[in-house]
Amino acid sequence: MSITREQIRELAEFHSAKSCAVSFYFQPSTPRNKAHKEDTILIKDLAREAMHSMESQGLESKGTESKGKKDSARADIDRIVRLSGELRSNGTHAKAVFACAAQNIWHEYDLPASLPVTQLVVDRYFHLKPIAHLLGAFPRLGVVLVDRHRARIFDLRLGELTEREGLFQTLSRKGRSDGYAGYDGGRAQRRVDDEARQHFKAVAGILKESLEKGVFEKWILGCQDIHRSQLEPQLHAYVSQALLGRFQADLGRITDDQIRTHAEQIVEQWQSDRRRDLATQAVSRARSNARGVTGLRRVLRSLELGEVQTLLIGENFQAHAVECSGCGHLDAHLVSFCPACGRATQEVVDVGEAILPWVIRRDIEMFYVKDDPEFDKVGNIAALLRFRSDNVQPITTTVADQLGRAGAAYPGRLRKFASR
Ligand SMILES: [Zn+2]
Repeated sequence: MSITREQIRELAEFHSAKSCAVSFYFQPSTPRNKAHKEDTILIKDLAREAMHSMESQGLESKGTESKGKKDSARADIDRIVRLSGELRSNGTHAKAVFACAAQNIWHEYDLPASLPVTQLVVDRYFHLKPIAHLLGAFPRLGVVLVDRHRARIFDLRLGELTEREGLFQTLSRKGRSDGYAGYDGGRAQRRVDDEARQHFKAVAGILKESLEKGVFEKWILGCQDIHRSQLEPQLHAYVSQALLGRFQADLGRITDDQIRTHAEQIVEQWQSDRRRDLATQAVSRARSNARGVTGLRRVLRSLELGEVQTLLIGENFQAHAVECSGCGHLDAHLVSFCPACGRATQEVVDVGEAILPWVIRRDIEMFYVKDDPEFDKVGNIAALLRFRSDNVQPITTTVADQLGRAGAAYPGRLRKFASR
């Protein structure tokens, strides 16, 4: 089963101080036939390390609660090790498991095999960075294949290609020739041309409708050049704007794997262009004090204020922070007590991971930025803002409105900023 946006959101909701959240990501190594055994050994090693680091933390916190946590995590880790034997039959997919035995949670998902590493993490929340990468503002994407008589439309979601059968049948009926018996050569040719024109017009109509209904937001075209020149003039302006790219395809021969590979290359290129563009925008807007911020402290504050529209995090961003055990406030200063509610804070080893649940819950668009020295210089984390509360006057009423919004989800954070 592959994972949906809704399921990722549910995982992001999980947060528990009382039990352990075990996250496991498996990336099949290549060549697979030889590496299977190595994968199993690797998973056993990861399991041992995870148990070991839990034991060493356990030295500080003894007691029944701590024991319950450890038993729960151990049960999950054992089950993951048992699962490692089956992972090979999973074929070309990667796998994610999210588990918390104490709360009867066990979710397994197939993922596209593009994870950076196999990993196993035990924490207070599920680690979602590898799937946040996949989400990375992945638009609802249609892949459309056409030739003179046919059209096939696919959905591409998180590496899964699914054909929309219904649309194909409608089109193929419309495009079907009734036969040319009785026509002379010239009339037959005109009729064929006319049918092709009607066919491409129908395809253009279905694309327009699909975009209007939100069946997909962006699309990719696969066809031969000759058909492209017949289809594209018929496209509505905003259908053309939503086109991410094209590839050469012979509709009769191409396999699903080839379609997916072509489409994924186009999406990757589009995403990387967009990432670079957004990172540049965030940095320059932050400089001019407009709707952009850079640096961990300022980004955390904007997240808590509900200002963030797009979050950009360096691929290798690593920073410590503390998290309030009471209100959930995250602070880049490693303070022992929460500045918002005064309760004790807990260390967060990877703040880039700790903010993901918020980001996912609130549908904030997010990108990981790679190899961008300018971005690196400003702290490797930045955001584009919907609004900037400190620019708005009068500040009392406006901020209260915004806090009302932010406060619904984060009551503790509300207090912090209301008291300023
Ligand atoms: Zn607090």
